[in-house]
Amino acid sequence: MKVLENESLKKYTTFRMGGNAKKMYFPENIEELTSLVNNNSNILKYIIGGGSNLIINDKKDFEEVLCLREFNTAIENKGEGHFYIGASVRLQKAIKTVNSAGYGGMEFLFSVPGLIGGALYMNAGTGRKTHKYISDFVVSVDVLKDGKICNISKDECKYDYRKSIFQDDTGCVILGAEFLFPEITAEQAKKGIDDRIALCKKTQDMTYPNFGTVFCVSNTKIMDVVRKFHFGYKNGCTYSPKRKNWMLNRENGTFDQAIKLLNKVKKMHKFFKKECKCEVRIWE
Ligand SMILES: Cc1cc2nc3c(=O)[nH]c(=O)nc-3n(C[C@H](O)[C@H](O)[C@H](O)COP(=O)(O)OP(=O)(O)OC[C@H]3O[C@@H](n4cnc5c(N)ncnc54)[C@H](O)[C@@H]3O)c2cc1C
Repeated sequence: MKVLENESLKKYTTFRMGGNAKKMYFPENIEELTSLVNNNSNILKYIIGGGSNLIINDKKDFEEVLCLREFNTAIENKGEGHFYIGASVRLQKAIKTVNSAGYGGMEFLFSVPGLIGGALYMNAGTGRKTHKYISDFVVSVDVLKDGKICNISKDECKYDYRKSIFQDDTGCVILGAEFLFPEITAEQAKKGIDDRIALCKKTQDMTYPNFGTVFCVSNTKIMDVVRKFHFGYKNGCTYSPKRKNWMLNRENGTFDQAIKLLNKVKKMHKFFKKECKCEVRIWE
């Protein structure tokens, strides 16, 4: 198993921010992962997949970080729309493979720069209006918990908007999942992907590193004001002037800046007695 020492976490996040991992582990199979977890349960505190939904403290040295990018990259076609997909598979690869077998439905995730494990943890999907989620296709999820592999049914995953049971259970590693996809034509698959890419090009702000949507619960009017004034720091972290509910790291952004900007918006919500909840995960 690859183990890196004093590895900068910055390059593992799409927001390009983070301190060092004193030790960063890259298990390549279930045996390596199990022995790692059995010898040290602290290892489960900081798990990173694609790193596309994370703000990591840039002043902190993290003792141990578990990186699941090289863990399980297998996709098994089990027939009749059933697929087993490993936690380390990129969403784009999963979609393309399923499509090439004549199945699909998950093309709306083609724009998401994460892995299957992270997407199952976050219940990645579209916004509330179109409400399409990875969980729509989940049959069950395999996790490593207390040193044992457990199969969790979709119901037990308690999926909701950007919510899963895994967010409440810090001692569990997502290993992979069984999915069931409907049959679709190659044209439908292509259209699904093309439409998603076109929509994201038009609406998202990719001018600087980011982590996608900031808050999974927020008030539209407040977020409109935040976008209009795009509070932030010159050459640092700032809210996007283009896309509502979106933060950018203009090259020299710091963790302190990002947290101040998050808190500012939370305070605005509190002042107007509106609900507000972070979507992005924060490693303090
Ligand atoms: C440009 C851009 C566009 C985006 N668009 C969308 C979108 O349309 N819809 C959407 O929902 N999200 C979107 N996101 C956010 C993000 O890509 C998703 O939340 C994605 O599912 C996160 O996956 P990841 O592998 O990068 O997870 P990470 O960022 O690595 O981790 C996220 C959380 O999951 C945990 N985790 C990761 N893997 C595992 C595992 N195997 N076992 C246990 N815990 C694990 C981590 O500890 C962390 O708490 C976007 C982000 C960007 C940068």
